[in-house]
Amino acid sequence: MSNAPTRSPEDAAARADTVDAVIVGAGFSGIYMLYRLREVGLSVRVIEAASGVGGTWYWNCYPGSRCDVKSLTYSYSWSDELQQEWQWTSEYATQPEILRYMNHVTDRFDLRRDMQFDTRVTAAAFDEEQSRWRIDTDRGERLSAKYCIMATGCISRPLLPQYEGLDSFEGEWYHTGLWPHEEVDFAGKRVAVIGTGSSGIQAIPVIAQQAAHLTVFQRTPNFSIPAWDGPLDPAEEREIKANYAALRSQACETSTGLPEEFREAYALEATPEERAREFKARWEAGGFPFLFAYSDLLTDRQANELAAEFVRNKIRARVNDPEVAGLLCPDDHPFGTKRLCVDTDYYETYNRDNVTLVSLKRSPIEAITPTGVRTTDAEFELDAIVFATGFDTMTGTLFAIDIRGRGGVALKDKWLAGPRAYLGVGTAGFPNLFTITGPGSPSVISNMMVSIEQHVDWMTECIEYLEAHGLASIEPTLEAEDEWVEHVNEAAEETLFVEASSWYVGANVPGKPRVFAPYVGGAAKYRQKCEEVAANGYEGFALVAQSS
Ligand code: FAD
Ligand code: NAP
Repeated sequence: MSNAPTRSPEDAAARADTVDAVIVGAGFSGIYMLYRLREVGLSVRVIEAASGVGGTWYWNCYPGSRCDVKSLTYSYSWSDELQQEWQWTSEYATQPEILRYMNHVTDRFDLRRDMQFDTRVTAAAFDEEQSRWRIDTDRGERLSAKYCIMATGCISRPLLPQYEGLDSFEGEWYHTGLWPHEEVDFAGKRVAVIGTGSSGIQAIPVIAQQAAHLTVFQRTPNFSIPAWDGPLDPAEEREIKANYAALRSQACETSTGLPEEFREAYALEATPEERAREFKARWEAGGFPFLFAYSDLLTDRQANELAAEFVRNKIRARVNDPEVAGLLCPDDHPFGTKRLCVDTDYYETYNRDNVTLVSLKRSPIEAITPTGVRTTDAEFELDAIVFATGFDTMTGTLFAIDIRGRGGVALKDKWLAGPRAYLGVGTAGFPNLFTITGPGSPSVISNMMVSIEQHVDWMTECIEYLEAHGLASIEPTLEAEDEWVEHVNEAAEETLFVEASSWYVGANVPGKPRVFAPYVGGAAKYRQKCEEVAANGYEGFALVAQSS
């Protein structure tokens, strides 16, 4: 970048409070954003609430935590040296391994010196006169930056149910998304897990092996596909690494950021034998690509039900007690319209003598008591409770910061009826505020790694453009934003996603407006749109010249 202000390492070490860019968050997004902005010569400060890098992979260190996209795909693609030298040990890496990888990246590229940990950003306000952001932290600092980049994550604000009596509980309790970094020993203990989403489904089989007894409190059953995880096959790894560029670009050309695409075939047009063969083969391969068996699975209720019933039959076959199997079979949402879970021995865990399933649909929790949990028809004595109850996704983390744009308008107020953002990268009235994987972008519907890299690259190029053209700020026009939001809603309406009361629509947070937050129109199509917008001089954005 030609005229970007540069800073020497000594300046950075002195932690100047006036920088070109502040990045909030040091997960996969924040780490890569820092790398790119530093590369183009900006002074940057990363502010992170945790004591280290990792984001999701720092906080979610619960037993069984691992990725559900294969690690050779769920990893950075921007450095060929990095992707060649790093060796994953299993197909789906565990949380400790992913965290090691993120620390390795941070040190390998000397990024830590621009990061500040154990610090939470509490407020960010746009100063219209200066055309700069004032960013406040919980340590009483005030930073000034031209660009404010929210790398705060879509799934990073844990949700704790408001049960009466939690304060009185005499045992230990944990949330999967705020797990302590010290070892938690469940040996000999009576443990409860509340929640059966992806986190619960990963934690339950591991906790069951440790605890004296595990009681699972399930409100709504979810669909899960086996991962069939195992050590990474060295031959497969060699082959992928020899052709890594091809795999990465393939992932950029699909609708979900995974290397696999929906098959161009319709479940309703296939014969029952063909369908059975296809579903069986995909079940045996495991993981998300099961969903790509037919391209009508997420748009046609009848087609969807064929896949749903195939999976329910697998659940019935995996669980010995028919009554328990019945409780585990989802019937309240179409298959794949809540985030599909990927498991290792989840259903088999209910065949263990030390595991009990309690349906909260039949008997809801009334209160947490000093000694355990009381439902409407029983008392459960417990030593520990694990809340796997999810997150206030997409907007929760942003709303926890007092973000104010032009005229002092609060983001929370602007988005009262649901998020409104152009391409998910920014919102009108908030100049130079960038939201990595923000609402209205493919984000959580896709392989996040691909979406994060696409956003970071796009934002870096946008910032380079502003600097090269001597521009003070960029923000979406209201017109472009409204059109995009309408398009995002229409794309969702064309699918079955809107039928599920999922966190995608905010249904898990009492009082949250029901709006489908991510963009389901396809990650490749979205990428193309972003490229066109940039090529047309940031069409749909208002660019403001620097005042002399
Ligand atoms: P995060 O990793 O969430 O990082 C955001 C960071 O911002 C956090 O460290 C947080 O502390 C910090 N922060 C937030 N607010 C503030 C503030 N006010 N001040 C300072 N710091 C702040 N996606 C996939 O594609 N594949 C997977 O297999 C997958 N597995 C997942 C498993 C779990 C358990 C969870 C919870 C999510 C998973 N995801 C997965 C989604 C995952 O969140 C993304 O893949 C990715 O890690 C997000 O990175 P990020 O940097 O954007 O956000
Ligand atoms: P989640 O999918 O929102 O699941 C939360 C669970 O808690 C649901 O079963 C929910 O039931 C239950 N619950 C919530 N409030 C409750 C209450 N008051 N009483 C009883 N039960 C309650 O959250 P998550 O499992 O943490 O996963 C969130 C997302 O993170 C995932 O969808 C995925 O994107 C990501 N993730 C990925 C992985 C992975 O495999 N790599 C692992 C973990 C998380 P209801 O359905 O009835 O609301």
